[in-house]
Amino acid sequence: RVIVVGSFNVDHVWSVARLPRPGETLAGEYGSGPGGKGFNQAVAAARSGAAVRFACALGDDAGGQLARALAADDGIALHVLASDAPTGTAGIYVDRDGRNSIVIGPGANAALSADHVRELGADLADAGTGVVLAQLETPAEAIATAFALAREHGVATLLNPAPADAEVTPGLWALTDLTTPNETEFCTQLQRLGHDADPDTLAGLADDDLHALCRRLLPHGTVVITLGAAGCFVSHASGHLRGDGAACYRQPAPRVEAIDTIGAGDAFNGALAASLARAGEKPFAEHIAHAVRYAALSTERRGAALAMPRAADVAARFDT
Ligand code: ADP
Repeated sequence: RVIVVGSFNVDHVWSVARLPRPGETLAGEYGSGPGGKGFNQAVAAARSGAAVRFACALGDDAGGQLARALAADDGIALHVLASDAPTGTAGIYVDRDGRNSIVIGPGANAALSADHVRELGADLADAGTGVVLAQLETPAEAIATAFALAREHGVATLLNPAPADAEVTPGLWALTDLTTPNETEFCTQLQRLGHDADPDTLAGLADDDLHALCRRLLPHGTVVITLGAAGCFVSHASGHLRGDGAACYRQPAPRVEAIDTIGAGDAFNGALAASLARAGEKPFAEHIAHAVRYAALSTERRGAALAMPRAADVAARFDT
């Protein structure tokens, strides 16, 4: 089982010719649907074949009802904090070049509490739970509580440090076994810790130099930097999750017809957590290869949560 602690949003998306300037009114094609990094990742994990429990906070409104209905469709067991605040929302403008501007209304997501997460104790004590997965769209205190409980029970903790502008406390880093930033998130978090890191030069770094930077971010754990179409870079602390594999390596992504990369990181995290949680000893690099393929396939479909592939689709597409 995978336990996901995180956000649910109702996404309102306008496709516009260009992004609006201050004071300007534009018309664009409108659509709405479920989102939030937490929910996207929970759906990716469920469709990857994991039993998923999703701890979140919802308002008493249409958005909250949508979350419950969609979770049921994917067999996701919810652990809901019923909040007085409205369910989280996101307003998203996407221009013709795929660039976007996003405003989030955290609403109920901001109410997710340590007390609520503590009620997951029995799930975490269950031997079937393999991974706790969290992002940074809900309060850090709730995530730290979940990770501390996970540690008590020997359950692996996976932190996707997104969005980039959210701060990670030293206490939360100390409770993290595995982290999956994209290039921007990796550099932002390293800069917060007082290190030089520039997303523009990251791609040109030799593996050993990138490995050394990863070791600064998470000295005792494993860092996986996702690199979009280039796949990802994996860096293990000495002995951590490494098995007989190399201390650091790159996993290229398969070439795909990418039409929508929004939610690719969420696909990667959900698939990685599901793969890690499955019983049986597989080398870490095989979990990574699966997550990269799963996320690549997700970019061939439009949408985030509702467009997440199923495990069988990945096998069929890439002949594995
Ligand atoms: P984020 O969406 O968080 O910025 P990335 O852009 O790094 O994350 O993408 C996450 C993963 O999605 C990559 O590691 C890769 O597996 C897959 N992916 C993203 N874009 C592409 C692409 N254009 N072609 C193939 N795979 C992709």
